[in-house]
Amino acid sequence: MAISDNLRSIVTELPDSVTLVAVSKTKPNEDVLEAYQAGQRIFGENKIQEMTAKYEALPKDIQWHMIGHIQTNKVKYMAPYVSLVHGCDREKVLKEINKEAAKNNRIINCLLQVHIAEEDTKFGFSKEELMELLGQWDKKNYSSINVVGLMGMATNTDQIEQVKKEFSTLSALFEEIKEKQIFREFNVLSMGMSGDYLTAIECGSTMVRIGSSIFGSRNY
Ligand SMILES: *Cc1c(COP(=O)(O)O)cnc(C)c1O
Repeated sequence: MAISDNLRSIVTELPDSVTLVAVSKTKPNEDVLEAYQAGQRIFGENKIQEMTAKYEALPKDIQWHMIGHIQTNKVKYMAPYVSLVHGCDREKVLKEINKEAAKNNRIINCLLQVHIAEEDTKFGFSKEELMELLGQWDKKNYSSINVVGLMGMATNTDQIEQVKKEFSTLSALFEEIKEKQIFREFNVLSMGMSGDYLTAIECGSTMVRIGSSIFGSRNY
């Protein structure tokens, strides 16, 4: 099916409260443009250099989200334009984003990534690390970072109960942090991909990151 058809059928089933990030990693600019022409404006990439090349080539009203694991030496390339960074998973990343945002006279929106999956291979703060960080947040002086929510990835499994449990854990943590009122606008819960976004929405997701169901499978 065409990209625009895939996109429309997904958009139709998303509640108004859920934002769609179209994950265009590895896909050519023409594919991004096809989704753009069908009305999509938010795209997600997992490599800073690939995202920057697309940013330079494509319409300037696209909002670019960095959804991948961050290499701190590349943060400078996205700092001038990135709209939301999903994968803030360690303090070194926060420090670097804060520094580069300030250089660009920007405040960069960030999500704190939480490790919810069973696999060790997925990145993110544990709940304990996150609570410790938030306990000291006032002293950190990350004045060029705007933390707007949390991001997480569930275990890659067809055991739906497992996935539900992980998303529910993240959702509860999101509510707990929201109540602390540490952050002014804490309203994004980024969870759900092609295989599990309906489950994620059931569990309270406000932002889904969908790639292969829109653009087709990826050839690496
Ligand atoms: C690739 C990727 C996605 C999209 O995955 P699909 O299964 O193709 O929808 C979502 N989130 C992250 C962090 C990714 O790296």
